[in-house]
Amino acid sequence: MINVQKILKFINIIKKERIILWRKKVCVIVLSVICVTSLVLYGCGENTQQSSETESEEGLNIITTISIIADFVENIIGDRSSVTYLVPIGEEPEEYEPVPSDFRKIADADIVFANGVNLEEWLEKIMRNVGDTEVVYVTKGAPTLTLVDTDIEDPHLWLDVRYVIDYYVKNIVDTLITIDPEGESIYRQNSKAYTDELIALEEWIVKKLSEVPQENRIIIISENACKYLGDAYGFEAEGIWELNAHEEGTPQQISRIVDLVKERKIPAVFVETTVDERYMQMISNETGVAIAGTLYTDAVGVKGSGADTYIKMMRHNIKVIVSGLGE
Ligand SMILES: [Zn+2]
Repeated sequence: MINVQKILKFINIIKKERIILWRKKVCVIVLSVICVTSLVLYGCGENTQQSSETESEEGLNIITTISIIADFVENIIGDRSSVTYLVPIGEEPEEYEPVPSDFRKIADADIVFANGVNLEEWLEKIMRNVGDTEVVYVTKGAPTLTLVDTDIEDPHLWLDVRYVIDYYVKNIVDTLITIDPEGESIYRQNSKAYTDELIALEEWIVKKLSEVPQENRIIIISENACKYLGDAYGFEAEGIWELNAHEEGTPQQISRIVDLVKERKIPAVFVETTVDERYMQMISNETGVAIAGTLYTDAVGVKGSGADTYIKMMRHNIKVIVSGLGE
């Protein structure tokens, strides 16, 4: 039997911290709205004119919501243009609160690449306030999985490499060719080379994951982000909660995973770089099962982490999963 009292006390500490953080974010939102209003009325800021002139000399001004999509775009665009992402590495994209400079970046952008599928609800808030910058959802056309016991679509399609090849890369290339037809041959060449790397990555993943015995094929992390990965490679995916934007870490959610780990004799659980790992630590303490490592689910790693690109982060993830669940 797990100690509910202890868990509740722990959750309260985490919640209090989050309320303080939330208050700070509210201040930032108010500032953002003031800034956008000024942007519309007075051109917000000293050097709007100057910055858009500089950008047109340097090629397209591309914004993506998350670092993973920025990496896809960088691979396709090469040094023809620069790419910036909005959600800082380490933050949950589902819970991101835009800062004033995001409004400005989007207003100045030629195009915004977003994941869609319930990942960036906050983007709609920006778009309602910012001019007519076009947003392209790079998962367009992809079949989706739903969150457990709901018909809400799960946004983490990128964790299945086949989706990246078939939808992310394809949608990005099509869009770039439409807005910059002169770059077509470069975009096609780069995307062909990148797709070859992704195919090699996929083959490596299949081979590597085959080392995990059937009874251990269950990936347990805080946010249940590995459904597409699991579906692709024959693993069950479980999370304490379903989506970061939803309720996180209730005693019921925690005791459900504790029971699951014990019943199925799962040898390892995992945490993510973008989520508070104290929830999983509680499960580890209650079950005696180790946290076998940290997975990159919603962002690539920082420079020097060994996981600062999508391909490197996936290789890291698979190695960690195999080391925890393999024999
Ligand atoms: Zn997520």
